[in-house]
Amino acid sequence: VLIIGAGIAGLFAALQLAPLKVTILANGSAESPDGRLNASSAWAQGGIAVAAGDDDRPDIHMADTIAAGAGLVDPETADILTSEANARIAELQDFGVNFDVDQNGALLLGKEAAHSRNRIAHINGDRAGAEIMKALWAAVHATPSIKILSKYKAIELARKAGSIVGAHVVSSIDNDDAVKMILANATMLATGGIGALYETTTNPPSSKGEGLAMAADAGAQFVDVEFVQFHPTAIDLGRDPAPLATEALRGEGAILVDQNGRRFMVDIHPDAELAPRDVVARGITEQIAKGNNIFLDCREAVGKKFPEKFPTVHAACAAGGIDPTLAPIPVAPAAHYHMGGIAVDNRGRTSIGGLWASGEVACTGAHGANRLASNSLLEAIVFAARVADDIYKHRPLTHRSGIGVEVSRWNDGLLVDPELEAELLDRIRRVMTENVGLVRNNQSLLEARYQIEKIAEMGGKLPSISNAALAANLVVEMALRRKESRGGHYRSDFPTPNDALRVREYMTVDRLADGQESEAVTA
Ligand SMILES: Cc1cc2nc3c(=O)[nH]c(=O)nc-3n(C[C@H](O)[C@H](O)[C@H](O)COP(=O)(O)OP(=O)(O)OC[C@H]3O[C@@H](n4cnc5c(N)ncnc54)[C@H](O)[C@@H]3O)c2cc1C
Repeated sequence: VLIIGAGIAGLFAALQLAPLKVTILANGSAESPDGRLNASSAWAQGGIAVAAGDDDRPDIHMADTIAAGAGLVDPETADILTSEANARIAELQDFGVNFDVDQNGALLLGKEAAHSRNRIAHINGDRAGAEIMKALWAAVHATPSIKILSKYKAIELARKAGSIVGAHVVSSIDNDDAVKMILANATMLATGGIGALYETTTNPPSSKGEGLAMAADAGAQFVDVEFVQFHPTAIDLGRDPAPLATEALRGEGAILVDQNGRRFMVDIHPDAELAPRDVVARGITEQIAKGNNIFLDCREAVGKKFPEKFPTVHAACAAGGIDPTLAPIPVAPAAHYHMGGIAVDNRGRTSIGGLWASGEVACTGAHGANRLASNSLLEAIVFAARVADDIYKHRPLTHRSGIGVEVSRWNDGLLVDPELEAELLDRIRRVMTENVGLVRNNQSLLEARYQIEKIAEMGGKLPSISNAALAANLVVEMALRRKESRGGHYRSDFPTPNDALRVREYMTVDRLADGQESEAVTA
């Protein structure tokens, strides 16, 4: 099995697949040669949602998930997500993840926006992602059937007779142009999200949508890609990526204020700071557009407990010269999570044989138009386990042979030009931020289409830019088609939801190019 990506979805699936032989591409970089920090998973702060409290049940968690998803959550998927949560959390504990527990060993559960119960399992305060990934990496290294290729990234899926049989890869560290092929009986994409296609993001640079683009390019269906979640409270101190001030702070009672200390969210939504993320993010954006500066004031709600309860946020503030026990934290919305992605069924199968997907790159339908906080790490483990189970049960018995595999389009030569790549990526990020952000409309999206087409032409010989531009283009095209506002997709020219359009749009690149309709499925 080839797993492309070493975040929580990739590592968890690999562990579930043992003793089947698995190769993981970990996409190392100069900053993180073994690839460990090139994954959103390692950066997660809040934790994992699980209905484990005395007053909670999976069906209540499911109802909250459906309510947050603005009419597009697939109820069957949400049921699987919430009812399998406890079992998967227990497996994480078996892999050595030490969730915060009380003296009786019960999970200590926090509250986050739009959850009706306390159900967020934390680790060492705000270190959930780092600690989970530390434990999973240790478990992976202790599993002889798993091989890690740290310095490779995929640039194209390998195709044979209409199925996927592995991937074409290049080194992600050495600047060379040698394209290699890795053959596999089963291939799983676990490449994460698209946040790094935006200028202001909480995501690592690896979240450029390359997996989504490779799957779409190979003919796989994608769905809900117009829905991008912006986190309301990235710390606004000019860093790229922007450090996050976790939602759990608002769960603890921290409030959003302007420079005059005015609490503006109470006028916008009955749940004020704990309203759904898109509502809070647009509330802040409106204030910023009016010339206000926005702050997260944690002094009263968290106070002196801050360094101990939120060590990651505290360190990020300290690096910017702010002591959050004494001063409010400057915040702004940042691209954070992609609800849409490669369309998969409840076993993580894509529409193409031989290809599975899980984690943020996939779209199971569990998040609809807007993800409920802390449901994404959960989705990654629940559905990665299902992918592993499906591959295990249905794996072909023979090894794929290289005979008959379509030649990579990059075999004719690719350009290695880090400077041009960085310049073109910056341009994509600017175009996406200015035109395809929290607020879009027909004019801004047409401008984005035009600009991204030009960038794609200029970067046609750079695999990373070619894939990033395709991923960006899919968001633009599907955002143009959805002529309403819903969840994470807000159009100023169609500012309200339209019930007649409450459908999930399954699309392929070929259909898009031919101007055909999507396969619309009512949620
Ligand atoms: C700052 C932050 C805080 C968050 N907090 C929470 C939280 O508290 N709770 C929650 O539920 N969710 C949270 N999220 C979201 C959650 O972390 C992600 O959705 C989740 O970790 C995604 O996991 P993944 O395995 O799909 O992808 P990732 O963890 O992003 O891993 C993707 C992997 O694919 C690799 N990759 C990418 N492209 C290629 C390529 N072309 N070839 C090979 N490899 C490639 C990457 O390098 C990486 O190894 C947070 C996200 C961020 C950024």
